[in-house]
Amino acid sequence: MTKRIVSFFVCSILIFNSCDQDPIDRNKSIFDTTEKTKTPFEEWLYENYTKEYNIDFKYKFEDIESDIRYNLVPAREENAVALAQIVKHVWIDAYDEMLGNKHFMRKYVPKIIHLIGSPAYNDDGSIVLGTAEGGLKVTLYMVNNLDVNSIDMENLNYYYFHTMHHEFAHILHQTKEYDTEWKQISNADYIGNNWIYEVRDTVKYRKKGFISAYSMMNHNEDFVEYYSYYVTNSQSWWDNEWAKGGAEGIAIMNKKLTIVRNYFKQVWNIDLDKMREIVLSRSAEVPTLGLLTFTNSGDSSPIPQKSAFHSDVPFDKRATLYPDRIKSCSCNSH
Ligand SMILES: [Zn+2]
Repeated sequence: MTKRIVSFFVCSILIFNSCDQDPIDRNKSIFDTTEKTKTPFEEWLYENYTKEYNIDFKYKFEDIESDIRYNLVPAREENAVALAQIVKHVWIDAYDEMLGNKHFMRKYVPKIIHLIGSPAYNDDGSIVLGTAEGGLKVTLYMVNNLDVNSIDMENLNYYYFHTMHHEFAHILHQTKEYDTEWKQISNADYIGNNWIYEVRDTVKYRKKGFISAYSMMNHNEDFVEYYSYYVTNSQSWWDNEWAKGGAEGIAIMNKKLTIVRNYFKQVWNIDLDKMREIVLSRSAEVPTLGLLTFTNSGDSSPIPQKSAFHSDVPFDKRATLYPDRIKSCSCNSH
């Protein structure tokens, strides 16, 4: 005990001595507190995302916001400029238009949108396109694969529009749960990570009432896949896809679609068909947006272009060979 008391006093003396000799300078911060000048793009983000929706649009790589399980690369600024405008036009503004006000998005939009240049590759060969975390943050991957000089609407729809609506639907059902009857319809057919082995058998999963192989992961993915595929594709596309599964699949689809339709209408006042009309119309406008320029207080500010603008990350070969072999999200909602 005596030894401990002596040690305590020795330590105390050392500490107090140390404090005496090294007083705290309260005017000096260890953090850099100098105000940084915003670039024109940062100014645009501040006006359009932060001021309007309280969103922190993180286009610079932040390791603390990233998933350390993956090897990831930062998003290029030019691509971030383009995607920031696409996300605003096809996602945020679409809900504002649907509901006639900004209150809904101001309340429910994730407060952090984080862009990553590359996809996140999983060991099983699938890739992650987006993640939604507890309603607070959405991460969008593959930003460097966006070719803004050659807009491919099909690719944009598949890799970006669909992902945005998919992730946002997660946030909505995490906020207010959907009808529990949903879980019963395909309960026996959810197969977790084994969905990846079903990607080529479209007829098989359509017969079981799934719009994508990834929907077979679990009931939450199934739910948001229905919503996101519905609002980002035309009725003729939808009908053609379901024709592949025949009457058996269509009967299940009708049951599921009714639940999705009722949920969005009753809980969020979102009419599925009206939403689709708005999303498709806004998607079609993307090539006219002038993705490399943006308007700041009446001035059109061009983004300095690099000579080698195209992505030097080769387009994912697996995605090209197996377009369905893609994991739409890695959502903390299961
Ligand atoms: Zn998901």
